[in-house]
Amino acid sequence: MIILKIDLLQEANRCLNCKKPLCKIHCPISTDIPNIINLFKENKIDEAGEILFTNNPLSIFCSIVCPHEEQCKGHCIKGIKETPVEFPLIEKEISTEYLSKLPLNKKENKKIDIAIIGGGPAGITSAILLAKEGFNVTIFEAFSKLGGVLRFGIPEFRLSRELMDTFEKYLLNLGIKIKYNTLVGPTHTIQNLKNDDFKYIIITTGVWNPKPMDIKGETKGNVHYAINYLVSPESYNLGPNVLVIGGGNVAMDAARVAKRLGSSVTVMYRRGEEDMPATKVEIAEAKEDGVNFKFYYAPKEILDNTMIFLRTESHTDENGRKKLVTLEDTDIAIPYSSIIVAVSQGPKKNIVSSEDRISLEKWGTVIVNDNFETTLENVFSCGDVVTGPKTVVAAVNDAKKVVTNILKKEELI
Ligand code: FAD
Repeated sequence: MIILKIDLLQEANRCLNCKKPLCKIHCPISTDIPNIINLFKENKIDEAGEILFTNNPLSIFCSIVCPHEEQCKGHCIKGIKETPVEFPLIEKEISTEYLSKLPLNKKENKKIDIAIIGGGPAGITSAILLAKEGFNVTIFEAFSKLGGVLRFGIPEFRLSRELMDTFEKYLLNLGIKIKYNTLVGPTHTIQNLKNDDFKYIIITTGVWNPKPMDIKGETKGNVHYAINYLVSPESYNLGPNVLVIGGGNVAMDAARVAKRLGSSVTVMYRRGEEDMPATKVEIAEAKEDGVNFKFYYAPKEILDNTMIFLRTESHTDENGRKKLVTLEDTDIAIPYSSIIVAVSQGPKKNIVSSEDRISLEKWGTVIVNDNFETTLENVFSCGDVVTGPKTVVAAVNDAKKVVTNILKKEELI
């Protein structure tokens, strides 16, 4: 849907300025939506931009990729009888204008070095906020560019890479050092960083380990994992007929990219459409792109040119709980040229070595206390590597809390 700037003003005028703004209450980072809308109406764009950026340095990205239907828009009172106020478009407009004015002012240099492992939303947010507080910040990033999922996961047609380029320059202009192509774990350990006088370390390495289906045939040459595929889809030759296994947003992104690159794509999901974890918007957009869907198919085995599925059924028990039942002897062979597996992901386990003494859950997520501190003093962690796969705004919000805790430790607040 294209809404022109003039229409955005009309959109802003639709806001009821609710006494109890449910949009703000349901925003994970509590964006002051009514205030921003009022400032927009008064054409106070810089003021609105500053408030948005101070509360959420990645507001421009969140305005584009947040699951707004579950957050601000989904709770807008206007949405009950008509359509909800398009706050994300207003936020995007303001944040885009503010991009050229991102503040470079910093507090006095504290002469304290901080290492951030991982340059995704959590790492970038921590880096900006700490650099502005006067800390010397170095980001260690495994990829050759900054952004994490914002650059190497979410497809370009949903989020322009130029935005992240602009941000990368901003971070460099703030004096943040970025060590690209540096995988912490095999090369440097956290202990090495401590020995080199990084007083605080923040682990924000996300979840880049695809979860396998654990079925026979999964290691075949034309079976790929969605998060690996999305890093560089153009490297792959998937052929005419792609099956995507899974029903989440990552599956939708992989399916849409493969479709746009010319394959016929079918999403195979073991439950029903109403059970899919992907947002309704993502499912609708995948359908608009021409992606096909088959429901109640559970993966069983991958053969050379066909994949075997078992049919499933959803039963509701006497307590109203849904239960998925796999039906025996219902093997069905579906032909494919390539398969993309998107059934979830967890952290890579090589981030910390045993000498680092950082405790992990058995699936690899980092254990932290209420202050986001790991079991090693002055080593914090946040984002997906702590929570498991979540959202950009959740990573930003937790990164803000880590920064607050470091400021408290330094008795700066
Ligand atoms: P990441 O973004 O994963 O960043 C971690 C960074 O750490 C990466 O750059 C990685 O290279 C680096 N790294 C990892 N290990 C090391 C190491 N050992 N040494 C150095 N660097 C390392 N959320 C939304 O809100 N909206 C969406 O539309 C959306 N779409 C998504 C689509 C896909 C395909 C995926 C996979 C996720 C999506 N998400 C979406 C989820 C969201 O992107 C994540 O929740 C968010 O990026 C988490 O931020 P993070 O900083 O914790 O981790």
